[in-house]
Amino acid sequence: MKLNFAKRMSYIKASEIREILKVTEQEDVISFAGGLPAPELFPIDEINEINQIVLKEAGTKALQYTTTEGYAPLREWIANRMNERLGTAFDKDNILITHGSQQGLDLSGKVFLDEGDVVLCESPTYLAAISAFKAYGCSFIEIPTDEDGMMMDVLEEILSNTPHLKLIYAIPTFQNPTGKTWSLERRRKLAELSAKYGVAVIEDNPYGELRFGGESLPSIKSFDEAGNILCTGSFSKIFCPGFRIGWIAGDKDIIRKYVLVKQGTDLQCNTIAQMTIAEYLKRYDIDKHIAKIVEVYRKRRNVAIESIERYFPDTIKFTRPEGGLFTWIELPEGISARDVLVRSLEKKIAFVPGGSFYPNGNKENTLRINYSNMPEDKIEKGLKTLGEVVKEYISQ
Ligand code: PMP
Repeated sequence: MKLNFAKRMSYIKASEIREILKVTEQEDVISFAGGLPAPELFPIDEINEINQIVLKEAGTKALQYTTTEGYAPLREWIANRMNERLGTAFDKDNILITHGSQQGLDLSGKVFLDEGDVVLCESPTYLAAISAFKAYGCSFIEIPTDEDGMMMDVLEEILSNTPHLKLIYAIPTFQNPTGKTWSLERRRKLAELSAKYGVAVIEDNPYGELRFGGESLPSIKSFDEAGNILCTGSFSKIFCPGFRIGWIAGDKDIIRKYVLVKQGTDLQCNTIAQMTIAEYLKRYDIDKHIAKIVEVYRKRRNVAIESIERYFPDTIKFTRPEGGLFTWIELPEGISARDVLVRSLEKKIAFVPGGSFYPNGNKENTLRINYSNMPEDKIEKGLKTLGEVVKEYISQ
């Protein structure tokens, strides 16, 4: 007899691109496809030292279950950090530790979405957020973006004309996939619209600490007078992703709902990982560590931008991110980045075609370039070859 699976399994499709990109595991492929931090910057020695200290001084606690909310000193640090850098007014009870910010997205689906609901998001948006929300049976309305972020006039028109909207998903700083950052005005306006229409906002911010230049901006949450906005954050890009420690922050009554659903998911996050990070933050200067990461990524970003300028045809457009891990290229209309990928893979160069980042399918002429995970000479070499492939493809 055949098994009957949940209806949601029909909403979740294996990505054809992921299959194509399996070749990026080969050593000789230059891959701009991932979103991986530079592994040479992981603080391995420090983690090794601190792990031993944690086990020696508090081994029974570190290996025991802990609360769903997470390790209190870590939650305190996160609340203070957000208050200092993002203009929020949190204490530890506003913070729930999650398995990466990714779990914050999944739990948001669990807390807010019923089958048939609609999520509003930037066009394009983060691929794995689309997957997380889709599993709850929602559809998406994509809101166009320009250089200043999501276009608020379009958003307001949709909010005012569409009943029962519950959730807006936004990545306002160094967005994945475009690298764009929202202006202050758009941030303020989104908070205002969220209050006016009673729609929750998930403000996803895994890259905010990785700023190479320009002015830091307050979070959307800092303008939230109605308490409708939740923020996700992560240690993945400023420490290491393998610990899978992130958080979701918001008003306490909403966070309590997240705590309830997390109990059913996994009870809690890894205790020893939380304690190790908290101890690292006590003994080491994370700002110094982040400055080191930023310095490396800034140079890689510069080489990526210079190489695109030099080797790509001038009929393309691309973003110049002030931070984060990605730049975004728009090829001329009608050019398929999927076709370009097939050709570039023959030359051992990989990237992600941008079409996958549009939940409703669109814009096949776009592509995402990640520059954080390889040395500068390889970035230049890879983008030179990719530029040549693009030129050749366009001229046919
Ligand atoms: N949100 C965005 C926008 C991302 O790009 C990612 C992946 N880097 C995540 C969330 C999830 O990251 P993590 O779970 O490692 O915090």
